Amino acid sequence: MKILVLNCGSSSIKYQLFKMEGDSWDVMAKGGVEKIGLKGSFLKHEKENGEKVLLEGEILDHETGIDYILGVMLSERHGCLKDMEEIDAVGHRVVHGGETFNSSVFITDEVIAKMESCIDLAPLHNPPNLKGISAISSLLPHVPQVGVFDTAFHQTMPKHAYMYAIPNSLYTKYGVRRYGFHGTSHRFVSKRACEMQGVDYKSQRIITCHLGNGASIAAINNGMSVDTSMGFTPLEGLMMGTRAGDLDVGAVTYIMDKELIGTQSASVLFNKHSGMLGVSGISSDMREIQNAMEQGDVNAQLGFDMYTYRIKKFIGSYIAAMGGVDILVFTGGIGENSVITRQAVCSDMSFMGIVLDEEKNQGIRGIEAEISRPDAKVKVLVVPTNEELVIAQDTKTIVDALKQK
Ligand code: AMP
Repeated sequence: MKILVLNCGSSSIKYQLFKMEGDSWDVMAKGGVEKIGLKGSFLKHEKENGEKVLLEGEILDHETGIDYILGVMLSERHGCLKDMEEIDAVGHRVVHGGETFNSSVFITDEVIAKMESCIDLAPLHNPPNLKGISAISSLLPHVPQVGVFDTAFHQTMPKHAYMYAIPNSLYTKYGVRRYGFHGTSHRFVSKRACEMQGVDYKSQRIITCHLGNGASIAAINNGMSVDTSMGFTPLEGLMMGTRAGDLDVGAVTYIMDKELIGTQSASVLFNKHSGMLGVSGISSDMREIQNAMEQGDVNAQLGFDMYTYRIKKFIGSYIAAMGGVDILVFTGGIGENSVITRQAVCSDMSFMGIVLDEEKNQGIRGIEAEISRPDAKVKVLVVPTNEELVIAQDTKTIVDALKQK
């Protein structure tokens, strides 16, 4: 089965074409369209052999963007398909499924209407996701489509974990509560960690740290997400590349008053100019922070110390929430590659059973590995995430089940 996975953002579309057979899979092509509707839009396409192609063009909307993607896949020079009919299904990343979606779904008109009702919760993210779905409906009208939600995995959180201590009417009227994000990644790496350890997913207490430009941490008990650090929006929780993470709401209103800014500017301030970038004044990128730390930059060091301290605090609180932990997982660009981040997070945690094998940790970048000491109570693992693969797998499962009917 050939499955096209699409991740449609406001001005970009990332894609991967998977060939799935049984449990095995291959990426036949991948790439992205950028600057949709802006000057200088282009398509970057990577073939199965790693060869890269850059195509510039007037890509004014998502439908044109997807048309470009299908065009390059069918082209004689760069393509991997002979006929559009070869695409058996399309899987879409959808950011917000609200309380409506607790798993991936086959997309029907009814589902689209429900997705539209979630727009209010993610006004920047859900509309482009829906544009991608509508573009496929018109370009590939007979191809089944599946939606995979960032929030779905966290729908198992108990009410005491997802409610905010604000008047209940704000939840009932507007749905203000913790939803959590990166669910596809937390689900994938926690399951994969259990496969690596040869243990039953439904019997483990797992903490997954997804540390990329965006960052979140999740507590997974017996195969279910029971808490996560991102909240109503992806702004809450850990310190991130450019997001502030947890912040006193009193400080937010105080800053807005002092700086004479409204909600839009405040949102930009705390989402785009804060976090590692705001504290270091250098960059949101961990590699640049690490380089600056090596040069003795105190603000970069402060950013790093705050970043790792927060992760440590969350780990402690999730161990308390689950009454212990069996597996701790690092993933995302920073979790998979930053040796010193893993080192700092796991330092002085032996009283909780977390002890890194420092030598093993040193050598691990972007590959699956166990990095805890063999005698440590808690297994610490690096598991590269693969959200596109989960979307392809969910799409295959749902489409296969439909065919059985
Ligand atoms: P992601 O959003 O998952 O792609 O992660 C991006 C983050 O991973 C950026 O902050 C990068 O600096 C960081 N990253 C990628 N490679 C490395 C590396 N070798 N060492 C430290 N951080 C890295």
